[in-house]
Amino acid sequence: MASNKYPHLLSELDLGFTKLKNRVLMGSMHTNLEEERNGYEKLATFYAERAKGGAGIIVTGGFAPNWEGWLKPFAGRMSNRNHVKNHKIVTEAVHREGGKIALQILHAGRYAYHPLSVAPSRIQAPINPFKPRALSTWGVRRTINDFASSAALAREAGYDGIEIMGSEGYLINQFIVSHTNKRNDEYGGSYENRIKFPIEIVQKAREKVGKDFIIIYRLSMLDLLDDGSNWEEVVQLAKEIEKAGATIINTGIGWHEARIPTIATSVPRAAFAWVTQKLKPEISIPLCTSNRINMPNVAEQVLADGCADMISMARPFLADENWVKKAMEDRADEINTCIACNQACLDHTFSNKLSSCLVNPRACHETSLNYLPTSNKKKIAVVGAGPAGLTFASIAAERGHNITLFESDSSIGGQFNMAKKIPGKEEFYETLRYFDKQLKLHKVDVQLNKRVTADDLKDYDEVVISTGISPRRISIEGSNHPKVVSYIDVLKNNANIGKRVAVIGAGGIGFDVSEFLTQHGESTSLNKEEWLKEWGIDKSYKTRGAVEGVKQEIEAPEREVAMFQRSDGKMGAKLGKTTGWIHRTTLKMKKVKMFVGVEYTKIDDEGLHYLDKNNQPQVYPCDNVVVCAGQISLRELEQPLLDLNKTIHIIGGAYEAGELDAKRAIDQAARVAAEV
Ligand code: FAD
Ligand code: NAP
Ligand code: SF4
Repeated sequence: MASNKYPHLLSELDLGFTKLKNRVLMGSMHTNLEEERNGYEKLATFYAERAKGGAGIIVTGGFAPNWEGWLKPFAGRMSNRNHVKNHKIVTEAVHREGGKIALQILHAGRYAYHPLSVAPSRIQAPINPFKPRALSTWGVRRTINDFASSAALAREAGYDGIEIMGSEGYLINQFIVSHTNKRNDEYGGSYENRIKFPIEIVQKAREKVGKDFIIIYRLSMLDLLDDGSNWEEVVQLAKEIEKAGATIINTGIGWHEARIPTIATSVPRAAFAWVTQKLKPEISIPLCTSNRINMPNVAEQVLADGCADMISMARPFLADENWVKKAMEDRADEINTCIACNQACLDHTFSNKLSSCLVNPRACHETSLNYLPTSNKKKIAVVGAGPAGLTFASIAAERGHNITLFESDSSIGGQFNMAKKIPGKEEFYETLRYFDKQLKLHKVDVQLNKRVTADDLKDYDEVVISTGISPRRISIEGSNHPKVVSYIDVLKNNANIGKRVAVIGAGGIGFDVSEFLTQHGESTSLNKEEWLKEWGIDKSYKTRGAVEGVKQEIEAPEREVAMFQRSDGKMGAKLGKTTGWIHRTTLKMKKVKMFVGVEYTKIDDEGLHYLDKNNQPQVYPCDNVVVCAGQISLRELEQPLLDLNKTIHIIGGAYEAGELDAKRAIDQAARVAAEV
């Protein structure tokens, strides 16, 4: 029986010529499978699982309408009949599962990562080394026709519709906004001229595909750029797009070059639904909202509040292919929630690696990583309930093994219990809720407050060592001074920390600890209005791009913090490709000082003594020194178990502490659990 907890979310959407079974659109994501050998077979399995899991309509990753529009050389295209055959593999697989799928047509314009890129004008993007060539008027018309031909080919390939990518700063957006469009032909100058490009694309596409084909237009409702569109212009464009023949308008937030986070974990849930709601009275076709909606109760509330007719979610479908099914069956507590970390999805996409998901390593690996029932049931002990141990225990138990999970602490979670306390990382709590439920569902025997020795493990067929790490200590004069504490003292043991703090080490944990220590009051990630003010977003939308000239309102930091690292070069260089800048900006906003290229000399009553990068002695007076100097593996059980001739598996931080993160710990644990 379908749940009645989410009446708006799970109700049908009648588009006249066709119906969507619910209000959930799986948003477009480029996975890099598009360019892999046999990638279309893999993509077909990837999408078919999401269709089976109940998504109302799926939108593919972006495919270019011509080679100039490629995001990178030889990226996916839909520009001639040869492409149709491959796409049929995908559409047929989705239809077999009763799903619907639309092809996204994306022309990268000046964001294209190749030397033959084109744009409305010859103006280079700040995030791309390649300078585009300006399209001639003939070139503009040819590009419009290419979009329309691509739409027709999509129909031929069996798609139920297309999405025209008109936001995020790609080519269409570049035509609309004056700072990237300096043309003096009929496609430049006045706003009416600049929006001719998207309007003609929709009109021509509609002519080619006929009336009974879904056309979604992704419209940049909030550019988040100083000279972006103003609200009146957004409304004017939306009305014209409706008139031109779009079926649904989807919400786009922020250009890629905007320096405001739009989907990272620190962005509050549904932080931008208000902008779709503002457009709602102006338009009569269905509107879809987007960004940081990851759980059914949030999605339901957004729809119940009248913000939109549909919800777009992309990454939540990497984290859990059965997201909709679980909502329908009232099993929301079983959803593997997207924590918006970007670590295995966008960070991979932008590094030319295959996308996946930190909390679900099967994502995009559906044809190679499967958790099949075992025919050789074993009694396995898992020691340590951090992300690695939790992943192994849940999957191995699901496969039919008899699992006992030992944890020396009073709760499961390992280091995630510290991560979830960092302002802006509250989502990490969801991963622990998910695992807690999985352990119960698969009847794992969880023994908390139990530090085991090898002797306790004699009766097991196999043992998994997932005991994690211990923090690295520093060895300089005064490292035992009472003012010296570790990040564990701060985040787990609630150590009393003074007002002036030196942080030794500027890896992920050094950054997180600095955010924790400077946070004044409630985390703004839990308060939409405060978060919008902190990042200078004008909700009244009286300014261009909703940011032009807006003063950011930032709370005074709770403490004065300085971060130190021995190596030269940018601080936080190893943080995520798509999120490192957010952490650096946040700490700048909190006035955290950063010192690189230092050598620590001693710690005493006065503070931290060091040689600066010019080899000059300095002292940073402080009440506490927090050591975040990396970690070492904790695997003291290994030798005693080998001495007992036990079969052991070492995973996560216990296996290797260098460059460890939860992505690697969970991925490794899942692969071992799939094989055991
Ligand atoms: P751990 O999480 O260390 O778990 C090991 C567990 O074993 C612990 O619960 C411990 O109590 C238990 N244990 C140890 N010895 C025994 C024993 N003898 N008997 C029983 N139990 C035992 N990673 C990311 O990818 N992204 C992030 O954003 C991120 N943020 C972080 C923020 C903070 C503040 C911290 C501290 C870490 C963060 N990490 C992040 C790192 C991530 O949490 C770790 O990489 C991950 O937890 C490693 O998992 P693990 O299971 O190997 O080890
Ligand atoms: P880390 O990233 O390896 O950083 C350790 C820091 O300590 C470095 O800045 C290093 O800089 C310094 N250091 C190393 N040895 C030292 C020594 N002997 N004395 C003084 N300083 C020393 O490790 P971490 O910050 O502990 O994080 C652990 C793991 O968790 C990381 O791999 C990270 O990926 C993951 N994590 C990720 C995130 C995220 O947002 N993605 C957040 C938190 C944690 P110098 O050597 O230059 O001094
Ligand atoms: Fe979400 Fe992180 Fe998975 Fe990406 S890697 S889908 S952001 S949980």
